[in-house]
Amino acid sequence: MSTSEPTPHLHADEESRDRAADDWGHLVRLRPRAVARPSTVDEIVAAVEHAEARELPYAVRGQGHSATGATQVEGGIVIDTSGFRAVHHVDHDRITVDAGARWSEVLRASLALGRTPPVLTDYLELSVGGTLSVGGIGGASHRHGLQADNVLELEVRTPDGTIRTCSAAEDRALFDAVRGGHGRHGIILRATLRLTPAPERVSRRLLGYDSLPDFLTDQRRLIAGREFDHLEGLAKPADDGSGWQYLLDVATHYTWTPPSFTGHGLRHRTEECLDQEYFEFLDAMAPHEALLRETGAWHQPHPWLNAILPDSAADEVIAETMRALDPADLGVPDGGLVLLYPFHTNAIRTPQCRLPDEPVAFLFALLRTAPADDGAALRRMLDGNEILRRRTLDSGGFIYLEP
Ligand SMILES: Cc1cc2nc3c(=O)[nH]c(=O)nc-3n(C[C@H](O)[C@H](O)[C@H](O)COP(=O)(O)OP(=O)(O)OC[C@H]3O[C@@H](n4cnc5c(N)ncnc54)[C@H](O)[C@@H]3O)c2cc1C
Repeated sequence: MSTSEPTPHLHADEESRDRAADDWGHLVRLRPRAVARPSTVDEIVAAVEHAEARELPYAVRGQGHSATGATQVEGGIVIDTSGFRAVHHVDHDRITVDAGARWSEVLRASLALGRTPPVLTDYLELSVGGTLSVGGIGGASHRHGLQADNVLELEVRTPDGTIRTCSAAEDRALFDAVRGGHGRHGIILRATLRLTPAPERVSRRLLGYDSLPDFLTDQRRLIAGREFDHLEGLAKPADDGSGWQYLLDVATHYTWTPPSFTGHGLRHRTEECLDQEYFEFLDAMAPHEALLRETGAWHQPHPWLNAILPDSAADEVIAETMRALDPADLGVPDGGLVLLYPFHTNAIRTPQCRLPDEPVAFLFALLRTAPADDGAALRRMLDGNEILRRRTLDSGGFIYLEP
């Protein structure tokens, strides 16, 4: 052990260790011996050096919203970066933040200058370090790729103990390894993120479909036209209990004049228009989070599976999965959701994020909520995920969020 090794402040109380042995999934439980809660680069380095000097494993935690134990480590040190969240600099085209900053904080700081990150996830309370480590996909990804594609520069503490700055122009190999690298190639300390002009408002259309083929055809058509700033979709149980309905969610940014929408040639059966303030639109998860916390679903197990399907296999795999899917096996109405939308694979340039070798791919995410204390229901959900996992891999797809 080096004599100059600084001593980090570690929390070894039961509550800290229990909290760090849990995550969004509530499926894996690995208990650390202690938790560090750094708020500066020096404190992060001290925690890592402390672990390395004792040959203890360590894991970095952002907001702990991964679902399969990625931020947990049995008998080691969890470095909880939720308090490492300063905004250092914000300008018209970039913002520099500590990796533990949440996207809601990035957005608030950038909106103060009329700027926005081009891609945001559906939930803004994820950390910058956490989503850059997995990719970060959202409704703008069909145009702007992942959040990891919109990084200008990173400061990284690498496993060899150095702190390096990397970007597309400097130390490119490290830059490409860390983005989407699930924390394996170093700890992201600071990120400089690209900003673009922010709109004041968003004009949104929710288009309802009874037919899955029509829904998928229209989604493909709309991303090809690149007409919308935001495009997502979801499946929900039909009101009359006769299977599934599909909702295409498209939006256009504007500041002065709401754009016109003809919907010409689209095959939707229902249409709802919403006009929202930009932040309210992006923060749409906030009221759902409050509700799910109230019902308790927020704290129940979340056996999620996020499939990335090649376009050529999407219709068949999705139709097959939806036919077999019972709303109860998703956790509806307590919090389950199917997310389903396409994106252009050439918009994504982060090498670590694996994609099908086709121009278009679909995110098909079974976001399940299992009932509390019902092992049989949880088992059924996990078995259902395994079927989709195998179908996805066999068809040339990948599983998002898994290293
Ligand atoms: C409600 C909800 C909504 C979501 N919506 C979306 C969405 O719209 N789009 C999307 O792409 N994903 C979404 N996700 C998934 C989410 O992006 C990932 O789970 C993400 O990793 C969570 O961020 P986090 O801050 O909680 O990271 P954590 O779970 O804390 O960490 C995730 C991984 O990153 C590593 N890591 C964290 N910080 C660092 C760092 N500073 N340096 C190096 N490695 C680090 C961790 O060790 C771990 O391997 C959602 C998740 C939830 C729970």
